[in-house]
Amino acid sequence: MSPRPIRTCADASSHGFYLEVTCNGCRRIAIFEPGGFAVTRWFKLPIDALGARMLCQPPKGCGHRGATIRFISYPPTPPAKAMPKPIETRTPKGIDPEAWANASDHERKRLVRRARG
Ligand SMILES: [Zn+2]
Repeated sequence: MSPRPIRTCADASSHGFYLEVTCNGCRRIAIFEPGGFAVTRWFKLPIDALGARMLCQPPKGCGHRGATIRFISYPPTPPAKAMPKPIETRTPKGIDPEAWANASDHERKRLVRRARG
């Protein structure tokens, strides 16, 4: 009955849910705040697809890829910061990658204009 229409981190985040991630290898459980995934492509993935991509990170974890994710309202332990790889932004030619990575949209336009000369 009444399945919740929550399928992605983005959904969970907007509903105030946490992710309970259980490693399919060693059954280790980690709790995450879904908002931590906002910078990644994972944010809008259905959780089944997301779980399949998750790695049980050594040394604490067993190194197994693949986890089962549930949404929970009240985490039994404080949620961990998600440590996803941010979406890579491609640095245009002639621009310092570090300056580009730290720049706002507005500053980026300026950097591009300056690089073009
Ligand atoms: Zn594991």
